[in-house]
Amino acid sequence: MQVVTTLAELRAARAALPEPVGFVPTMGYLHAGHLALVRCARRENAAVAVSIFVNPTQFGPGEDLERYPRDLARDLRLLQAEGVDLVWAPTPEVMYPEGYQTWVEVADLTRVLEGAHRPGHFRGVTTVVSKLFAGMQPRRAYFGQKDAQQARVIIQMTRDLNLPIEIVVCPTVREPDGLALSSRNTYLTPEQRQAATVLYRALQAARQEYEAGRREAENLRQTMRAVLAAEPLARPQYVSCADPDTLQELQGPVEKALLSMAVFVGQTRLIDNLLLGYPDGVYPRYVPEGLG
Ligand code: AMP
Repeated sequence: MQVVTTLAELRAARAALPEPVGFVPTMGYLHAGHLALVRCARRENAAVAVSIFVNPTQFGPGEDLERYPRDLARDLRLLQAEGVDLVWAPTPEVMYPEGYQTWVEVADLTRVLEGAHRPGHFRGVTTVVSKLFAGMQPRRAYFGQKDAQQARVIIQMTRDLNLPIEIVVCPTVREPDGLALSSRNTYLTPEQRQAATVLYRALQAARQEYEAGRREAENLRQTMRAVLAAEPLARPQYVSCADPDTLQELQGPVEKALLSMAVFVGQTRLIDNLLLGYPDGVYPRYVPEGLG
């Protein structure tokens, strides 16, 4: 496994990889959710590349950039054990040198949900992912359904910029009690960790309503709100039942829907979602024209 930092090192190491290359972008502090993406990439590609970069431009003022957990040595051990071929761990200076002034922005999809509550977040995400794609030049890239809006936005960006990269979305990996794995779960006290299961419980309650045929969007939102309201340590920021494609809120009975939420447990902001009406519960793979 080669570990590189600079663009010169990356280009040399990238050129030596067998094709096709599957790429997993991460912010590090890896858990089983990240490793599931790596395994998915391993199955479909001759080589697997991972990036580790806590991207400052996707954190807002007052968010957790400084205290975001980091442990590069541990991450590298985990990736080595997964048979990863190349790890790119650039510094902020490599990605955003003095005088940097170019941004990639997806318009409508980023104005709602996470984008509405984290201004500038997706501009940072799409900019850094564009730069990571440009550096790594993968044939396929792997993202988690855990960050559903991010997956949807990356697919849009890839299509809009005609990037010759397949986007694969992999299922959310959960703890046995349903809590979605997240590097931010390490912020939770034992009591908060217990309370954090409320996100999945709320999503499951709404799924049950949907499966019982009570499919009004407002009923699904109300069901989630009621479960969240019963947990004193949870402060919901938004609860949504949206069109999976446009991410606009739905009204009336739904067929396909993205149920999603952001909830503060203490100072920690947690997100989770369920995709209803899709066989695998994930966004379908995006295959650019002519790449099939
Ligand atoms: P992050 O390091 O949080 O930026 O996440 C890197 C990638 O891992 C993103 O595509 C995430 O959606 C994905 N990911 C994070 N947590 C999970 C999880 N619990 N299950 C599946 N994928 C995940």
